[in-house]
Amino acid sequence: MTLEKVDPVEVFDAGDKGRGLRTTKALVIGDVVFTEASFSAVVFDSLSMQVCHNCFRRHASPHRCAQCKFAHYCDRTCQRAAWDEHKRECAAIRTAGKTPKENIRLAARAMWRMLKYGGKVVDSQLTSLDLLQDHISDMVDEDLKELQDDVQRFLEYWPKTKRALGTEYISHLLGVIKVNGFTLSDQRGLQAVGVGLFPNLCLVNHDCWPNCTVILNHGNQSALDSAFHSQRRIELRVLGTIPEGEELTVSYIDFLKLSKDRQQLLKKQYYFDCKCEHCSKGIKDDLMMATKTDEKPSADQVKEVTEFGLKAFEKIEEARISGDFEEVVKLCRECLQKQEAVLADTHLHHLRVLSIASEVLSFMRSFKEAAECASRMVVGYGKLYHPSNAQLGMATMRAGVTNWHAGLIEVGHGLICKAFAILMVTHGPHHSITKDLEVMRSQTEAELQMFKQNEKAYQSVREAALFGKPLAEPIKEQVKELVQGAK
Ligand SMILES: [Zn+2]
Ligand SMILES: [Zn+2]
Ligand SMILES: [Zn+2]
Repeated sequence: MTLEKVDPVEVFDAGDKGRGLRTTKALVIGDVVFTEASFSAVVFDSLSMQVCHNCFRRHASPHRCAQCKFAHYCDRTCQRAAWDEHKRECAAIRTAGKTPKENIRLAARAMWRMLKYGGKVVDSQLTSLDLLQDHISDMVDEDLKELQDDVQRFLEYWPKTKRALGTEYISHLLGVIKVNGFTLSDQRGLQAVGVGLFPNLCLVNHDCWPNCTVILNHGNQSALDSAFHSQRRIELRVLGTIPEGEELTVSYIDFLKLSKDRQQLLKKQYYFDCKCEHCSKGIKDDLMMATKTDEKPSADQVKEVTEFGLKAFEKIEEARISGDFEEVVKLCRECLQKQEAVLADTHLHHLRVLSIASEVLSFMRSFKEAAECASRMVVGYGKLYHPSNAQLGMATMRAGVTNWHAGLIEVGHGLICKAFAILMVTHGPHHSITKDLEVMRSQTEAELQMFKQNEKAYQSVREAALFGKPLAEPIKEQVKELVQGAK
């Protein structure tokens, strides 16, 4: 097998892990290793009527394909752009009289693309789908049964007049999708809306403490309003200094789990045993289970609080699903009170409650309490996550906004600046979230100045904006002065 290369990476034999990608020159933090458009992608079944099947933007009243009545688009521009990809799918859905689930649709789209263009659609593509691992030999009975059912569904959907495909090849393709399908988010990067295949990205192996991160960047959003709708493009971005010849890695899962739980999850979903340094040495496991150090609690106390937490999570989840947010807050407060005397600020149970509490309290507009929870959560996250971790950046951003809403403008501005620094690395300067953060940064900076000049006027303006309280006359005058002074 010849090993491919495209500046600055090459494919290499990574031993147990199969093939991998390594650098052909040194890279530094914030570099983009490569960008890659999806080989094929589909919108999730559950969102097929709310998300554009071309650019994956959410749309309140999308335009429907009159023929299959399944595909939806922003407008005719998106529909036209998607026709090459949708044409055969549209006919297959009409013939079958029903739409198969997302992984079958994705396999068929990939298949049509391969039949039309061959296994390699662009020069920079380092591998074909044929050569990717499907992990079928590692699958447990349950997974194999599901795979067989999916092969049947694929055959029912695939046009009968087309060249017949062997079941073995269809199994391979569905296996590749199962282990390599990459979740696509909407244009704001906030909600998962679909799944796609990115062959080069598939070559990047996992590490729980990776040197790269992958981010979906739908491109320039203002350009999206004109003829250029999104290309469903990912960027592989560098998180630190990487010397020449070193393997590039990303994390397939969130880091905030104990080593053994991460290993278990990776085995179940991706069929490999993680032997990364963090898993082998259990790095940070101690912090994730840490208890208070000043007044060391007894083993019984720890056991009681842990068990209480586990039971509470179930109740919290139930209350959340039924929309009883008052109950969620009550349960969280109870939990936090018990945990505070016993668990350290990095304990996973404690962080989980803080995360839920800050989210629900924000939603209920109890900004002060939400801000306190969010701030504490970010302190814990900061001790556990890699300093350039996208989840850390997003959580810091949310904590910044919550503090800002709570009128804690100094803390809010500080957190927003911190989040901006992280997202400049993980998302890059052109991502829509980074751009939003930049706007928030200038806005909070201006407000901070205003706050330093006249705190009372600042708080009144804030309350007027948040809660619709009218401004008192003398405050109005002060605000006028402040605004004029700021110019
Ligand atoms: Zn669109
Ligand atoms: Zn159609
Ligand atoms: Zn690991």
